[in-house]
Amino acid sequence: MCAARKKREPAQPARKLPGLIDAHTHLTSCGAWEPEAAKPLLERAADAGVTNICTVGDGFDECVAAVNLARQFDELVAAVAIHPTRAKELTDEVKAALATLAKDPNVVAIGETGLDTYWIDKSEDCADIDTQQQALAWHNELAIATGKTLMIHNREADELLLDALADLPRAREVMLHCFSSPLEVATEAIARGYVLSFTGNVTFAANDELREVAKRVPPGQLLVETDAPYMTPVPHRGFRNEPAIIGHTALCLAEVRQEPVETLIGHVRETYARVFNLTLQ
Ligand SMILES: [Zn+2]
Repeated sequence: MCAARKKREPAQPARKLPGLIDAHTHLTSCGAWEPEAAKPLLERAADAGVTNICTVGDGFDECVAAVNLARQFDELVAAVAIHPTRAKELTDEVKAALATLAKDPNVVAIGETGLDTYWIDKSEDCADIDTQQQALAWHNELAIATGKTLMIHNREADELLLDALADLPRAREVMLHCFSSPLEVATEAIARGYVLSFTGNVTFAANDELREVAKRVPPGQLLVETDAPYMTPVPHRGFRNEPAIIGHTALCLAEVRQEPVETLIGHVRETYARVFNLTLQ
């Protein structure tokens, strides 16, 4: 099983897998705010077969940087929002600026927005749940107004989030990034037509239930992402994640789904193109 590989070594790409896609990463958090800094990351990703990447801003400055990067590189698109833990930063001024930024053709999704109860008690800076709910509703409106995908962050908020999404008008597509919830949440999300995006934690030894979830997701509702620099897949836990090593996650998903990795990549490409309204080469 993919989860059994535990050896520690510097993060290296898996074997070259042409056509791979990273549907959610944070190039700015990987240190790449400017094109010059992004270049080596993108070159390493391209060498590993990665053809397309969506980079996500967590705060307004990161969103501006993400869009600037996406303007520079053909393989890059951007998602913009204020992260739920930072929802206090969503002032009227920021809302106006984000709404303008969201119209950029390089922006394919509004996110990550959503709910995070994990940090509420642990960090004074974390927005309370009401502020997060209001920010989610505002971002959802922006997704609908721009016709772009709603990209959701959920940490320890399964029930609250499913309820909130059910109460809000529906965006064109809803993508649950870093999907890590139990099977019953997955079943409901799949029934609602949401897209579940899996990251490196699906390779972790302890995450049998998540692999069980990954097995059951219909091909048109599954994406793969790094969420770099976080969530580094086995066998490189403890090292910094980056788009070039997404192959480990794709290979694990293909193994649990008992399909050739090329088949998985083909489905992921179709889903990515549909969800982000892109024509892939
Ligand atoms: Zn993320």
